[in-house]
Amino acid sequence: MHRVEYLSGSFYIHPGATDRALRRYREFVRPPGRRPLYPQESFCSCTWCSFDDVRHARDVLEEVLERLPERARAELGRLVKPLDVVFLHRTLPDPFAHRREWRTEFWWYRRLTDRSERG
Ligand SMILES: [Zn+2]
Repeated sequence: MHRVEYLSGSFYIHPGATDRALRRYREFVRPPGRRPLYPQESFCSCTWCSFDDVRHARDVLEEVLERLPERARAELGRLVKPLDVVFLHRTLPDPFAHRREWRTEFWWYRRLTDRSERG
């Protein structure tokens, strides 16, 4: 895992990023109850604040997953998968996602955000 982080040379993937992303993702889906959760855009796009947006955390996990060798990928996948399930369950689909162009190829960007909730 750390080797991928060091080798990647990516903006997203820096040492500790995977761990951070995983913790952020867990934290987002943790609140108990049935109330919907809304991802929120981060106000600053530096590598640190970007994690305020849980979707960024999911981006990081995706990129790491793509780069990991098979076995490590399966391991990380087992940690991410249940969080994906909760995320999908607790967020709402954005009916206008097809009108947006920003990153909608990723399913986690096609969910209602805090901003769209307020209109
Ligand atoms: Zn910042």
